[in-house]
Amino acid sequence: MAHDPSAPTPPQASNFLRGIIERDLEAGTWAGRNFGGSPGDAAHHAAGASDPARIRTRFPPEPNGYLHVGHAKSICLNFGLAQSYGGICHLRFDDTNPEKEEQEYVDAIIEAVRWLGFDWNVGGTSHLYYASSYFDFMYRAAEALVQAGLAYVDEQSAEAMRASRGDFNTPGTDSPYRSRTPAENLQRLREMRDGLHADGSMVLRARIDMASPNINLRDPTLYRIKRATHQATGDRWCIYPMYTYAHPIEDALERITHSICTLEFEDQRPFYDWLLEHLADLGLLARPLPRQHEFGRLNLSYVITSKRKLRELVAEGVVEGWDDPRMPTLFGMRRRGYTPASIRAMADGSGASKTNIWLDYSVLDGCLRADLEAQAPRAMAVLDPLPLLIGNWGDLYGSDAHIEPCQAPAHPQRPELGQRHFGLGAQLWIERDDFAEAPAKGFHRLYPGNKVRLKYGLVVECTGCEKDAQGRVTRVLARALPDTRSGTPGADAIKVKGTITWVGAHDAVAATVVLYDRLFTEAQPEAGGRDYRSVINPNSKRVTAGYVEPGLAGAGTEQRWQFERHGYFVTDRVLHRGDQPVFNRITTLRDGWSA
Ligand code: ATP
Ligand code: MG
Repeated sequence: MAHDPSAPTPPQASNFLRGIIERDLEAGTWAGRNFGGSPGDAAHHAAGASDPARIRTRFPPEPNGYLHVGHAKSICLNFGLAQSYGGICHLRFDDTNPEKEEQEYVDAIIEAVRWLGFDWNVGGTSHLYYASSYFDFMYRAAEALVQAGLAYVDEQSAEAMRASRGDFNTPGTDSPYRSRTPAENLQRLREMRDGLHADGSMVLRARIDMASPNINLRDPTLYRIKRATHQATGDRWCIYPMYTYAHPIEDALERITHSICTLEFEDQRPFYDWLLEHLADLGLLARPLPRQHEFGRLNLSYVITSKRKLRELVAEGVVEGWDDPRMPTLFGMRRRGYTPASIRAMADGSGASKTNIWLDYSVLDGCLRADLEAQAPRAMAVLDPLPLLIGNWGDLYGSDAHIEPCQAPAHPQRPELGQRHFGLGAQLWIERDDFAEAPAKGFHRLYPGNKVRLKYGLVVECTGCEKDAQGRVTRVLARALPDTRSGTPGADAIKVKGTITWVGAHDAVAATVVLYDRLFTEAQPEAGGRDYRSVINPNSKRVTAGYVEPGLAGAGTEQRWQFERHGYFVTDRVLHRGDQPVFNRITTLRDGWSA
């Protein structure tokens, strides 16, 4: 999908989830539902008032890593749907796996969701929840299932269980433990909970159908024994619920109406419904029950989003950390300079469909340009500096030290942002590639004998250059033409074909400018099973010692500018200091990648 710069926001793609919600609201599917004011069982909600939220959605990350652009899609979808239909979106940590989860990730996720612009506080209530706080209920539900004959403790070895599950073409076979009585199973389950059995020696399974064509219904595991310290519940439990058992219960306790997940969970939906229907029949969960809806994942070209592979990029030193500005993590994207609005626009514009989608990276850059074009102040910056000496400056202005005050609007369409001020003198910095000793055809900038306008300044004519022993140009020489000052009458009398940007050697601020680009050279780094390591872009980061306009001295952190002719830049939120500025290039002014 090539990006058209004249239409920088992606078209509003269709979103079938909106259709589902609208039909549900029309049919009154969720009307008259009570909410107990907090998550809870059937009795808790029955005692509550009518739910003020017309729908409830949730974003349920597992706190085992940093959020990436794919999660941003899910965040924008869930919070966005709640916003547009008078609903509430919960932020829920799916922290049921004690082995991989850490507080560091919980904090980082909270910060990232806030930064994206979403809030789980509604009317004074915080809808921030932890699945681990439902462990008591989950265990109670497990006992209820056992007593109803819907679950049993299986003591087969892991290999025997795997073998008896069958496969796509072969039905599974019943475990020898499947026919134990509820009383026997209850006793075993309690022994499991009380730590009387070794890790992995037995599991609790649902009793559904070992011959089901859906393998997920062949008596899935509900609980396992694992002596592991949980970040929230410590050593209180030595049995932990499986994700497929825990997730539907979490949704139901929170009275989620639309449980939106990615396509790989489609085959789990029959178990989701089986479990919730039975727990509602047993009087444990309130009706109406949540419904699961699957949508396709968002993939961005030139980006990989698997947490495991992002971890590899960090561990192998391909990037400098989780918040490296080339990483597709929300922390990386933030540091790179992407605005929350640009990420939201990209996510919303990509809609929701029943297939996984690949979005071209240029769509994100287009959203960033659309957001910043209207708001970012302009500035001149020289990224690859070459000195320019105006030889006749003293003749024109009486002294070589004379500084001619210049000004320019902070933003061409927004006069209320005022003017920027800087000085023009005999010695300037210009871009190295704005000079050519022997110009190619069509080159209209500085070369001996050619005239160009110094933007907001005056017209100069190139008179030559100086070089070092290696033949590298060290200084460009020029003379200024009288009566060509920008903004004075007759300034345009001399026609030039080129205008170049510059900063004054006397007042420019030295700055580190980091030119970031895509981390991979291929749109689909892993296409055809390729190792992404073989397509790493060697030029994804270039550090230059540049100069910026004097007005940028003392710039604060995370401030954004459009550097004229160069693109959009932000002060690096980690490395930037007022007296040692560091600017990151977010993106160029135009897309240089699409064909
Ligand atoms: P990863 O595969 O990177 O480990 P995950 O799906 O395991 O991601 P979770 O923490 O379980 O990570 O995800 C939280 C939510 O974000 C889930 O509902 C998941 O479906 C959703 N999500 C993750 N990646 C994407 C994506 N690329 N597009 C849309 N939604 C996504
Ligand atoms: Mg996951």
